[in-house]
Amino acid sequence: MPLHGFKCENGHRVEEIFSLREDVPLAVKCPECGTKAERRFQVPRPIGVNTPDLESVNARLFSKKERLDGREIRTEKQLRAREAELGIRVMSASEQHESQQWQQQDIQDIGRAGREGGYEGALSHVDDTEIMGVTGWGTSRLRKWQEATENAVAHTPNGTPSHG
Ligand SMILES: [Zn+2]
Repeated sequence: MPLHGFKCENGHRVEEIFSLREDVPLAVKCPECGTKAERRFQVPRPIGVNTPDLESVNARLFSKKERLDGREIRTEKQLRAREAELGIRVMSASEQHESQQWQQQDIQDIGRAGREGGYEGALSHVDDTEIMGVTGWGTSRLRKWQEATENAVAHTPNGTPSHG
């Protein structure tokens, strides 16, 4: 989620989250002293929950009733407070960085699998990655499992292999 930084006339730092669909204003009202706080960050800083969509974050963190009562996340502080309230933990900056690198690696791997094996190759790569992600298996364990599964399928009555 992108976090935008503003600074007011009295030097207070104001940080607000805007979804990618929203227009980010050039200035907001400083919640501390009420003066005009102008936008400072040229590039928004990604934070917390790994989604650019503030709507869906709010939908996830609050019940319908709470949202009707006007509860919503607007600042990083509010996000941290709500997470503490719910007992959930966001990724740290370094975890986020790592997760982004993993995602980029995934995209590259899928691309390579696609170039080598076409659509089927890309698809089976995604399947493999998902199975390994869920089970925690490495490649060799996955291959063994796949062989065992293929064997089992081959030995079912409808797929009886030739017995010489
Ligand atoms: Zn201020």
